[in-house]
Amino acid sequence: TQVHPVSRVAVVTGAAQGIGEAIALRLADDGFDIVIADLPGKRGQVEAVVRAIEAKGRRALGVFGDVSLEADVVSLVEKTVQEFGGLDVMVANAGIYRPTPILDLTVEEYDSMMAVNARGVMLALKHAGRQMVEQGRGGRILVAASWAAKQGIVNASAYSASKFATRGLVQSAALELRQYNITVNSYAPGLVLTPLTLHPDDEINGGPGSTAMKVTTIHRYAGLPNNIKAGTPEEVAGLVAYLVKPEARFVTGQCININGGLGMD
Ligand code: NAD
Repeated sequence: TQVHPVSRVAVVTGAAQGIGEAIALRLADDGFDIVIADLPGKRGQVEAVVRAIEAKGRRALGVFGDVSLEADVVSLVEKTVQEFGGLDVMVANAGIYRPTPILDLTVEEYDSMMAVNARGVMLALKHAGRQMVEQGRGGRILVAASWAAKQGIVNASAYSASKFATRGLVQSAALELRQYNITVNSYAPGLVLTPLTLHPDDEINGGPGSTAMKVTTIHRYAGLPNNIKAGTPEEVAGLVAYLVKPEARFVTGQCININGGLGMD
């Protein structure tokens, strides 16, 4: 079985903005046709990413749905195969984060974080995995973890639990899928400046302000030392670009830190 197919098609979820958008653009630069998946409310942003990829001379398709719903993930894979003839890379990047102290955490909030960040990854592994096995030409599955997948974070117990869950999913799926030349890995960013971390209007950052002020506030809020630097979405995209290359075929089941030294486990 060939690890790297002739036709190269990548799906990136949560690709309307932030890290997912950077991954979609980078994989397009590297020759992939791209499916940009995000929530229906992100139509305008998704269309802008589609145009940016087409401007690079690659094919792009926007697909709308919720990664936590099985029917939507099934339809995402179906539309990808219909449009581009196959699926070689699945990047289960979509995730949500809402800071809440454990003492105030509601069941609804806990369940919604687990639904998107953990169940959404399970569904991506299952349905992208089935498609890749059926194609018989291997594949690559990447998952957004976090430093919070390795270490608890202040006011992020539900988020951290959901990201720890991705590691169990990734490790088990990597063992089950390696016989098919499918690798499964996750990237674990530290602080990366995206709309997720730069809430411009909420109480965390005290309203709109300079990036430097926001970074300082995030550090204070998340209990991070102030000398921890923030990374860029493009830096995370560079790691993903490596992991989908043929030369990364021996890397599987890993949760790879990309965090400027925030943590080293
Ligand atoms: P972001 O909020 O900027 O972008 C996430 C995208 O996912 C959004 O476009 C959103 O609409 C989409 N999305 C959310 N729920 C969805 C759902 N149910 N179905 C489909 N799409 C959905 O976030 P980001 O900072 O780019 O983060 C991307 C991933 O990286 C997330 O999984 C996040 O947890 C993880 N991460 C981010 C950081 C960071 O510092 N930014 C650090 C560690 C991990």
